[in-house]
Amino acid sequence: MGLPIRGTLGSHVAGRWVADGEAADDLNPSRPTDVIGRSAMAGPDLADEACAAAAAAYPGWRSTPAPARGEILRQAGDLLDVRADEIGHELAREEGKTVVEAVSETLRAAALFRYYAAQTLEPDGDTYPSASRTTFLYSRREPVGVVAVITPWNFPIAIPAWKIAPALAYGNTVVWKPADLVPLTSIRVVEALVDAGLPPGVLNLIIGRGSTVGETLVTHSAVSAITFTGSNAVGRAVQLQAVARGKRAQLELGGKNPAVVLADADLGLAAEHVARGSFLSAGQKCTATSRVIVERPVMEEFSERLSALAQEWKVGDALDPTSRVGPLSSAAQLETVLGYLQTARTEGATILAGGGRADELGEGYFVRPTVLTDVRPDSRILREEIFGPVATLLAVDSYDAAIAAANDTPFGLSASVFTRDLGAALAFANEIKAGVVKVNLESAGLEYQVPFGGTKDSSSGSREQGKAAREFFTEWKTVYIDSQRA
Ligand code: NAD
Repeated sequence: MGLPIRGTLGSHVAGRWVADGEAADDLNPSRPTDVIGRSAMAGPDLADEACAAAAAAYPGWRSTPAPARGEILRQAGDLLDVRADEIGHELAREEGKTVVEAVSETLRAAALFRYYAAQTLEPDGDTYPSASRTTFLYSRREPVGVVAVITPWNFPIAIPAWKIAPALAYGNTVVWKPADLVPLTSIRVVEALVDAGLPPGVLNLIIGRGSTVGETLVTHSAVSAITFTGSNAVGRAVQLQAVARGKRAQLELGGKNPAVVLADADLGLAAEHVARGSFLSAGQKCTATSRVIVERPVMEEFSERLSALAQEWKVGDALDPTSRVGPLSSAAQLETVLGYLQTARTEGATILAGGGRADELGEGYFVRPTVLTDVRPDSRILREEIFGPVATLLAVDSYDAAIAAANDTPFGLSASVFTRDLGAALAFANEIKAGVVKVNLESAGLEYQVPFGGTKDSSSGSREQGKAAREFFTEWKTVYIDSQRA
């Protein structure tokens, strides 16, 4: 038994469900013959309407007392909690991460809505001593207006939640364009907010292809800010369009995240966490571990341990609760990841585990957890984001060589170090160029009350989540009141 699916999976504009447009099948990547539903791809006209609806709803939402806005978000969080099992199953079926991960992601989205509900009760500004005896001087954060939220498919409920919840909490209205691979999960988020009492037009959903509706959203005169998570190629193009029109743009992009295993590490723990970072969600996380830099004396034992886990972890249908690794999310992802594995072979890399499709699982987009070594230092395998369950091992002779290798990438999202030496751990935390650093923990996995984001090519430099979200979704207004003349 699941939640009801209304006919065609469509957009939600000005409080109405709209299902016009080119039809596309929503497929289950574990079994691509399983059609979950049909979605209607919106065109630029509907995107334009959604921006206008968000602009029309803005004055009312902005003037709604912040605690009342928070109450709606809290109720939406509670509804997501109650529906987490059903939504999690749908998410696993639609996106392909295992049902265990998918339910937990849904619960995370619920927690994010409640967290930002609580933020609506926090102080929203500061008072200052004035140079004048009679002036009351304060500065307060105000919403920026209509925000375009553009999200990827790989965390189809948590990433939207960590953008939409603060945008709404701080008084903005939203036009949201999720990735077109995950229409059903996106609809579930909107339903929770509608059921919680969100007024029409405050959150508008556009189910459509980025190439068709993206430009309308990014360049629309009613839109003040764009928050984007996705690939570098699309993100940088969005940034150029936004900045050329004087709009705020926040980008969270790709990663090529290192895990450094020093010779004194607990190798069992390091192997388990590197496997988690590399293989969970089939490696389709921006914070996934990709390059594993190991001090030479422990390379043999570590690589045996990691390869053993890669072989042991069950690859299977995302809806099977015993699967640890589900499929890649689409045929295109499968093709990309198999292409990288072919490059590894052609270049003479050694494949210690995995290396290809799990053929016995039929037509699903399954790739075995893969461990590579002897990869050429200039190989694309070590430079580009693969976005699949692939860990590449690299031996080094010292801590200095390890940190140099770890930083040798255009990206800077997350990084791990495994060591029992607190001095080495702190040195790594200082010297690694990354937005998130983990010590004796996998490179993926975030808590929502702290800032998240990358450096270098992984981001535009701003931060999401926690109180950092307020920076992007609000701006300062400073007010001088001369009380003598009031
Ligand atoms: P993508 O760039 O293909 O798509 C992201 C979103 O942009 C989708 O909604 C897509 O429809 C939209 N889009 C496409 N063309 C557009 C255009 N011309 N204008 C406006 N929007 C457009 O990325 P993806 O394949 O969905 O996601 C995977 C990527 O996301 C990976 O690179 C991953 O590292 C990155 N990611 C980053 C983070 C982070 O927080 N740094 C988190 C998750 C994923």
